[in-house]
Amino acid sequence: MTSTENVLPTGSSADVVGFQTADPHRPDVVVTARSTDDVVAAVRHAHAHDLPVAVHATGHGHTVGRVGGVVVATGAMRGVTVDPVTRTARVEAGARSEDVVAAAAEHGLAPLSGSFPGVGVVGYTLGGGLGLLGREFGWASDRLRAVEIVLADGSVVRVADGELFAALRGGRPSVGIVTAVEIGLVPVRTVVGGGLFLDAGDADAVLPVLHRIASGAPESLGVSLGVVPVPPLDVVPAPIRGRTVLHVRLVDTDGAVAWAADEALRAAAPVLLGGLRELPWTESGSIFAEPEVPHAYEGTNVLVGDLSVAALAGVVAAARAASVGCVVDVRRLGGALARPAGPDAVSFRDAGWIVRVLSSTDGCPASDVRAAHGSVLAPVADAALGRMVGFVYGASPVDPAELHEPAVADLLARVRAEYDPAGRFA
Ligand SMILES: Cc1cc2nc3c(=O)[nH]c(=O)nc-3n(C[C@H](O)[C@H](O)[C@H](O)COP(=O)(O)OP(=O)(O)OC[C@H]3O[C@@H](n4cnc5c(N)ncnc54)[C@H](O)[C@@H]3O)c2cc1C
Repeated sequence: MTSTENVLPTGSSADVVGFQTADPHRPDVVVTARSTDDVVAAVRHAHAHDLPVAVHATGHGHTVGRVGGVVVATGAMRGVTVDPVTRTARVEAGARSEDVVAAAAEHGLAPLSGSFPGVGVVGYTLGGGLGLLGREFGWASDRLRAVEIVLADGSVVRVADGELFAALRGGRPSVGIVTAVEIGLVPVRTVVGGGLFLDAGDADAVLPVLHRIASGAPESLGVSLGVVPVPPLDVVPAPIRGRTVLHVRLVDTDGAVAWAADEALRAAAPVLLGGLRELPWTESGSIFAEPEVPHAYEGTNVLVGDLSVAALAGVVAAARAASVGCVVDVRRLGGALARPAGPDAVSFRDAGWIVRVLSSTDGCPASDVRAAHGSVLAPVADAALGRMVGFVYGASPVDPAELHEPAVADLLARVRAEYDPAGRFA
């Protein structure tokens, strides 16, 4: 037995099951980390025994389960420290979006957080991080200031420049376990935002209006369209129960533009439920109002340069016609998302839109789900630039060449060759 095994804080398999319940990790060793030292012990153990290593934070981005080796659970490392003077936060590996949102709000600041408060900040940021305020402030990884990471040999480094740092800014290179990130915050306390639910049967009237709003939006306005088959359950509000709905999500740091959009949408078709309000950023999770119940799911996406009204309508129609329940999320990109903020690994910055599709796989064959996802994305397939790594879920097949532009793929290959030549984190 090596000395590292004496201090290895082993955990249980329950520590590496999270939001995604399909195909959980089945490692030889679970390490439940509470500190950087614990992560170092785990990586040294793997190094000494020539074992592969994976990391689990919340499980939101879980793809396929690791069989054997070491899985490090970081969920207990949720520390967040805010420096209001430099407008930065140091965020530990297991912290969730809601942790940073709450800590930053005490100083009138906000992180570039995404739609769901429970998502892990590190996994989100390493994959780019498409936040609700992205059109105004860029990708979350654009505000990554420094990364503390345990490398394959167990060494701990803090990087704030160079190729490794560039690869970590949106490329999720899997060359070590990040123990903390330092991120920039923005001075946002409140926004005008919310979600409007309309009947999908009114798509012909709603989609041209929504497309016009999104296409001409100033950078202060974030626009997303969900297509959601709402289950016929008593817990669901009666106006949308059992219907397929269009869920238009708006968020605006200015305010006036969102209210104008709200008026135009209400003139197009009846709003069944929901609406806008001025809300503190601590309640920004209410804009998408995604369900918090862990489940098994697969999902994929395409980034497209342009999206015509006809293609958008095709996506919505295909989702409604699919034999498997498909949740669609179409988000307008552009604005600051298109502008690089230094060397990084974000690909396809010129994408104007992202089209995502997601389905539960509980009791549903994966082949049916993949066929349905293929039909939903077919109307935009010809315009696809690539796919975003953070929005590929479960065992959904993806060609690695679709995730990165060639220059980014080269950068990631160089970084992997230098920092993880044995492929311990691959
Ligand atoms: C309901 C929901 C809403 C979402 N909304 C958004 C959104 O608005 N915008 C957006 O961009 N994304 C969003 N995502 C996607 C999310 O950003 C990714 O799934 C992200 O990978 C989740 O990270 P995690 O740590 O929570 O998940 P995990 O499944 O625990 O981790 C996912 C991966 O992140 C990497 N990772 C995590 N921690 C570390 C670490 N310490 N060191 C090295 N690598 C690490 C690993 O590759 C790991 O496999 C959403 C996902 C869900 C399920």
